[in-house]
Amino acid sequence: MLTNKDVLHWLERTADVLHENRVYLTDLDSPIGDADHGTNMDRGFSAVRAKFPSMADMDIAGQLKTVGSTLVSTVGGASGPLYGTAYLRAAGMAAGKQELSPTDVVAMLDAFTGGIAARGKAHTGEKTILDALVPAVAAARLALGQGASLATITSQATAASEEGMKATIPMLATKGRASYLGERSIGHQDPGATSSWLILRSLAEICAGQ
Ligand code: ADP
Ligand code: MG
Repeated sequence: MLTNKDVLHWLERTADVLHENRVYLTDLDSPIGDADHGTNMDRGFSAVRAKFPSMADMDIAGQLKTVGSTLVSTVGGASGPLYGTAYLRAAGMAAGKQELSPTDVVAMLDAFTGGIAARGKAHTGEKTILDALVPAVAAARLALGQGASLATITSQATAASEEGMKATIPMLATKGRASYLGERSIGHQDPGATSSWLILRSLAEICAGQ
């Protein structure tokens, strides 16, 4: 079970990891974008970090909602509204729950992914965040069906997202800024798929440590 304390740890870990990887994410965004994805994610999660003290007493839905609204209001790039919507959808799923069971966590990841899809109107294969998240949800669902623990579910989701992230390299971008490059978008790893993998890996680390 994931408590609000665990969710806060996940968000703290996410903020740390995105800060540590800000140059990496921005470098990925340089050949196929405008070299700001790391800065965008770090700016958003630094603003979230400032709210951690007040988030300790919130329930899970309140915590996720705070992240979503903070990202929407502080991140200028495409990733702000996309991830903002993802956390807001995840919050909606967690409404009224004091803890998240393995089934709830998979439903939360599904809602998170659905938020990106709804906001970005993208499908898999377009070289976006979804190429990491959609396979992650499928892997999580498979592990859940096999009766796996939360640690296994989230680590398998992370492994699938890493594969999905790497699979964006040969893809032609047809959504977002990278799509302006046409064929020249081929041969580069998508920055948004990479930040999604880092977000999932942070969750898996928290679940492994339980
Ligand atoms: P911007 O493109 O405005 O500079 P960022 O650099 O922060 O914003 O984010 C870029 C990432 O956003 C891309 O790598 C891609 O994964 C993701 N992205 C862009 N458009 C979409 C979309 N329509 N659906 C899903 N993800 C998208
Ligand atoms: Mg960018």
